[in-house]
Amino acid sequence: MRYRMEGATVITLDGKRTIYAPGQLTWENGEIISVGPEDSDPTPVDQLILLTDAYLLPGLINGHNHAAMALLRGVADDSPLFEWLQDHIFPLEAKLTAEDIYIGTLLACAEMIHGGTVGFADMYFHVDQVAQAVEQAGLRAWIARGITGDAETGQQSLKESLEFAAKWREHRRITPMLGPHAPYTVSFDLLEQVASAAQTYDLSIHIHLAESPQEIADLAQRKTTPFALASAAGLLSSRILIAHGTHVSPSDVDYLAGIRGGIITCPVSNAKLGNGILPYAMLRDAGIMVGLGTDGPASTNSLDMFLEMKAMAWLQKLAGGRPETFRADEALTAATTGTASVLGHSGGQLAVGRPADFIVVGRRSAHLIPEHDPIANLVYAAQSKDVRYTVVDGQILMAEGIITAFDEQAVMVEAESRAKMLIS
Ligand SMILES: [Zn+2]
Repeated sequence: MRYRMEGATVITLDGKRTIYAPGQLTWENGEIISVGPEDSDPTPVDQLILLTDAYLLPGLINGHNHAAMALLRGVADDSPLFEWLQDHIFPLEAKLTAEDIYIGTLLACAEMIHGGTVGFADMYFHVDQVAQAVEQAGLRAWIARGITGDAETGQQSLKESLEFAAKWREHRRITPMLGPHAPYTVSFDLLEQVASAAQTYDLSIHIHLAESPQEIADLAQRKTTPFALASAAGLLSSRILIAHGTHVSPSDVDYLAGIRGGIITCPVSNAKLGNGILPYAMLRDAGIMVGLGTDGPASTNSLDMFLEMKAMAWLQKLAGGRPETFRADEALTAATTGTASVLGHSGGQLAVGRPADFIVVGRRSAHLIPEHDPIANLVYAAQSKDVRYTVVDGQILMAEGIITAFDEQAVMVEAESRAKMLIS
């Protein structure tokens, strides 16, 4: 089937930042066949969708998530990070069944599809169920089984990671990764084993690094930094997705220059947990890739990438005190091509041969009028509820606000009852 959408303002985010107003996008077999001004492609299509008063742009890619934590949304909010994790989250996670994780991930997928997210990088456990939920929802995902422990206690999670990778690595929309959780939950020798497995099996790594001041202080007692440790363990030799990276020092930049991958900043989580603000300008100037993510819905409470773009811009302007040094376009880039580059994925922009992963955002709303600058409108004014269509791998997952891939109402009912059972 060949499809075309026509009539929207098409924001390609390609290298030249081309905008077609009005434009058209044609796709087939999950790939973009043509993109350009309206009427630029005369070839016939099987389905033509005419759009008015809308933006068509690359879908947002959430670079750091623990999607199934949607079931824990709102638990012990307003606690300090380590108390929140150890006293509240870890005991509840120990009770989560595989089926809970399947339903929790589907709930998160519904939220992401509504908010214009086309793919996400996830770290959790019962990853077969995470992958099954993603398969059903139609999204794209980079999935890592969280690895914790030492060279002895962590073997099971490493083994499960490799089994998961072997099982899912040929899937069209799912890419397995290795997920050593963090320097404070994984021993150095296990980090070395993960680094070696990443090389042997050609897998990318997803890790939390330099998230909180306490992590930095604890590692300083061991006379190291998160980045020096990661480098010494061999983790920086493979493609690596570094979640947070909030506390990168100028001397850490040497470790990061030249890596494949980059940092995924999660500004709402960092702000809510009081962890700090990414030194974005330093990383940008050093040529280090920066993408955007939400973190899990228990720490961030929502999987809203439109909110994350605003938060990234607000925090960067606030931290520097010079609002002109961070532009709306940089937030939109982080949420699209930025995350895609960290993941080594060709999405995040609309061009011939790229994946047909895109969204349509309605612009006939009071808060989007007038339109002096479409990018500023999308970042500073648009809301996730303005998303009308979400298309992934050429499949329309949501049309005019209705999710077509699964029964969203049934998932919400099931998730609510499972969440209640968990807390009781
Ligand atoms: Zn996280």
